[in-house]
Amino acid sequence: MNDACEDISRASRGPKPMKITIPDFSLVVMIGASGSGKSSFATRNFAKTEIISSDTYRGIVSDDEASQEATDDAFELVHDIAAKRLKRRKLAVIDATNVRAEDRAELIDLAVKYHAPPVALVINPDAEICRAQNASRTTRRVPDDVIDAQLQVLRGSLSQLDGEGFRVVHRLTTLDEIANGAITRVPVAADKRYIPGPFDIIGDVHGCFTELSELLTRLGYEVSIRGTGANRIVASKPPQGRMAVFVGDLVDRGDNTPDVLRLVMHMVAEGHALCVPGNHDNKLMRWLRGNDVKQTHGLDKTVEQLDCEPAELRPDIEKFIADLPSHLWLADGKLAVAHAGIKDKLLGRVSLRVYMFCLYGETSGETDEFGLPIRYNWAAEYSGETSVVYGHTPVPEAQWMNNTLCLDTGCCFGGRLTALRWPENETVSVTARQVYAEPIRPFGHPPARPKVAKS
Ligand code: ATP
Ligand code: MG
Repeated sequence: MNDACEDISRASRGPKPMKITIPDFSLVVMIGASGSGKSSFATRNFAKTEIISSDTYRGIVSDDEASQEATDDAFELVHDIAAKRLKRRKLAVIDATNVRAEDRAELIDLAVKYHAPPVALVINPDAEICRAQNASRTTRRVPDDVIDAQLQVLRGSLSQLDGEGFRVVHRLTTLDEIANGAITRVPVAADKRYIPGPFDIIGDVHGCFTELSELLTRLGYEVSIRGTGANRIVASKPPQGRMAVFVGDLVDRGDNTPDVLRLVMHMVAEGHALCVPGNHDNKLMRWLRGNDVKQTHGLDKTVEQLDCEPAELRPDIEKFIADLPSHLWLADGKLAVAHAGIKDKLLGRVSLRVYMFCLYGETSGETDEFGLPIRYNWAAEYSGETSVVYGHTPVPEAQWMNNTLCLDTGCCFGGRLTALRWPENETVSVTARQVYAEPIRPFGHPPARPKVAKS
C-alpha cells in the first residue's frame, strides 16, 4: 500500500490511537478531577482485576460509592489490594482522583516497597469538559465546586509531577488523546525471559582485553579490530544462534579497558550480547558524570587509559552504562544474570534497592581488616528455581552452589577469565597473561549472613 492509500485507509478507520507505553509490571496511578474520564479510560485499557477503584471500595464498605465518610476505609483497602497484587508481580491501576501530592507520595512508597515502577497517568481535560461529563452521569454526580477545588489542587502540583518519583509521567489533555489513547505494555528492561539462549556468560573482565579476545575465540566468536582513535572498531560475531552475556565489571585494573568497552558496546548494539553493570562500571559512570569519586581499586588506570582516547568515547561509555538493566531474567525464567547476584523475589523488579543489591550483593555496612566492605554470601541462603550466574567476588574455581554460580575467577589478579556455556553447563577458562593488580584480600566466597536468634 502506498503512503496516500495508507492515509485514506487510516482516516476511514478513525483517528490513529495515541500509543502510551508502560512497563507491564508497574503501579499505574491515575490522576485527574472527577468527571475527567479516568474510570472510562481505565475500563477501556485495563482488565477488571487490574483496576483498583476508590469508589468501588467506598461502595463495598458502605453500600454507597459516593460516601465520603468511607474514604479512610476505602483507601486502606485500595492500598492493601495494590500491595497484594504487586507482591505477586501483577500490574495494578489506582483509579482515584490522586490530585494531592501527599496521596501520590503514599502510592509511590508502596510501589518502591514492592520494586514496581510507579507510572503517572494524568487525565486533565479542560474544566468545562470535567463539569459537562460529570453532569452527564446518571449516578454519583459530584458538585461543580468540588471539581473546581480538585482542579486547583491538581494544577498547582502538575509542574512538580516529574520530580515526585514516578518512572514515567503520561499526560492526556485533549478529548482526542483521552478517547483514543491506547496503552501498550512492554516488559521491564531486566525481563528478557523471551530470549531463550543459548548463552555464553562471561565473568568479570576488568579491562583484560587480550584474555577476553582469547576467551571469545575459544568460544567460537570471530573477533576483529580495525582503525585507531575515533575510527577504532572492535567487534565480535557469535557462532550461529548464540549470544554473549557479560556479568559486569568490564572496567578497571586491566591494561586495556577502552577496547573491552568498545567490544562489548559494539556487541550489545549489534544484538550479539547482553550486559549488566558491575560496581566498577557504575563508579566509572559516576566519574564520567563529574561526581566526586575516589580513583582507587583500578579506576586510576582506566582514567589514564581514557586520557589517551578520543574524548567522544566518554559520553558513549556513560550512556552505555546508564542504560544497562540491573539484572537479566532470561530463558523463560530459568536463568538470571546479575553482577553481585540477586534474590529470586527481586527478579524482574525495578528499584534503587534492586539495583544496589545487583551491584554490591549483601553487605554488612562495615569494612573489614583490608578496608573493604564486608560482604555476606547471599548465595548460601539462595533456594530459588532460577539459576543465578554472577561475578563480583573472585573465587579460585567456578562451582555451583544452591543453583548459583560465581564466574569471577580473578583474571585481573593473575587468575583466569571464565565463561559458562548455558544451557550446556560447561565452563571455559583462559589464564591471565599477567598480574594486572595485586588482590587485597584472598580469593573465596564471603561467609553467610550471621543468623540472629529470636529473643
Ligand atoms: P470520578 O473521579 O468522579 O470517578 P472519572 O474521572 O472516573 O470521575 P468517568 O466516570 O470516567 O470520570 O467519566 C465521567 C463521565 O464522563 C461518565 O459518564 C463517562 O461516561 C463520561 N465520559 C468519560 N470519558 C468520556 C469521553 N471521552 N467522551 C464523552 N464522555 C466521556
Ligand atoms: Mg471514576
